Amino acid sequence: MNLPELEKFDREHVWHPYTSMRHPPVTFPVASAFGTRLTLADGRTLIDGVSSWWSACHGYNHPAINQALHRQLDQLPHVMFGGLTHQPAVELAARLLELAPEGLTKLFFADSGSISVEVAIKMAMQYQLGSGRAERRRLLTVRGGYHGDTLGTMALCDPTEGMHAFFGGVLAEHFFAPAPACPFEAPCREKDIAELAALLERHQHEIAAVILEPVLQGAGGMRIYSPQYLVRLRELCDRYDILLILDEIATGFGRTGRLFAAQYAGIAPDIMCVGKGLTGGFLTLAATLCSDRVAAGIAAGPVGALMHGPTFMANALASAAALASLKLFGEYDWQSRVKAIERQLKTELAAAVQSPAVKEVRVLGAVGVIEMRSPVDAPALQQFSVDHGVWLRPFGSVIYTMPQFVIEPEELSRITAVMCLAAAAEAAKKPERSFC
Ligand SMILES: *Cc1c(COP(=O)(O)O)cnc(C)c1O
Repeated sequence: MNLPELEKFDREHVWHPYTSMRHPPVTFPVASAFGTRLTLADGRTLIDGVSSWWSACHGYNHPAINQALHRQLDQLPHVMFGGLTHQPAVELAARLLELAPEGLTKLFFADSGSISVEVAIKMAMQYQLGSGRAERRRLLTVRGGYHGDTLGTMALCDPTEGMHAFFGGVLAEHFFAPAPACPFEAPCREKDIAELAALLERHQHEIAAVILEPVLQGAGGMRIYSPQYLVRLRELCDRYDILLILDEIATGFGRTGRLFAAQYAGIAPDIMCVGKGLTGGFLTLAATLCSDRVAAGIAAGPVGALMHGPTFMANALASAAALASLKLFGEYDWQSRVKAIERQLKTELAAAVQSPAVKEVRVLGAVGVIEMRSPVDAPALQQFSVDHGVWLRPFGSVIYTMPQFVIEPEELSRITAVMCLAAAAEAAKKPERSFC
């Protein structure tokens, strides 16, 4: 296919995430990606501000990960994990459990983030069943969250912003507490967690687990909250013997400045989901980690087995990429880099709040957000950022960046400049002067 043919077929036959086939928006064919740059098929180069939905961190086409993949490809790209096992998966499991918060000792490999959350839900349900508490069949979460696109996980996404309305009668009904409202630097007061505490107390005998994204709510609106909220939540879960599931799919692997966001709170979950950044953005892979206690509960249940097993579970190529990516975390000072990105984002985005159309600017680690007062024209801003040499993907009311950790300061300045211009353009509905 030549380029116009490709674009036509794509537009007419291929679905893209959450995009209309009635009014297909422009999609941009990509030819290659190196470091922090995307090269489009028409030859233009963009600085990537989205990191392939927050999964890439060490740079596209990183030689160490490429090499690990080439080596694995020549040995064993994939084999079923039922009844068989292999070195990349087992070594990866060992490394992940070593890096994870204390007490997590068992691991299930899933093929995407959503599936790792499905598995976490099953773990919690099967644990309760095995522990003789079959009546604990529901979950509690907070509003403003995002946990995936499958039927089980959709039921945990924000009930108004999420997709509940389209799937009435099909989604499980869970308990929703208000979104954590205490800012990152602030303490978590009694009233910040009162409603959640009341729900837990009232429904303790129905609730199998609490699930939420630690410190940063990602796709649900890019909100950042106090780690102390998690400390309080951990205490409450312990009090009622309810499991705590942390969804670290977006926050894991350094994105917020710590390897895992739970480390800001100094707490450990009973179950933890990782995905996105696990392979450095190269291949799809996720995992669900749990404690001995959870595993023992499942083992004591009617079947004794965790009831899940995807065809491409523990894919060897993906495992090799993940091992190489984790090794890279030990080979350059990513923490200083994320700190520097955080400082630069704070400095360069701060002035955006002067625009009356901007509600708030938020920064944590390698996450920079301009929240507008009303929903943005995402397709228009997408085109606008491409025209300015940057790849951004605004959604809802937020214009954000999650750059790779290896981004150079000049590249990041370009991203923040375009974010500010985009906010100003959005405010005026035409490109105007930036406030930054
Ligand atoms: C992206 C994401 C998921 C879903 O992961 P997929 O790989 O897209 O299925 C789940 N939870 C959080 C917090 C995420 O950011």
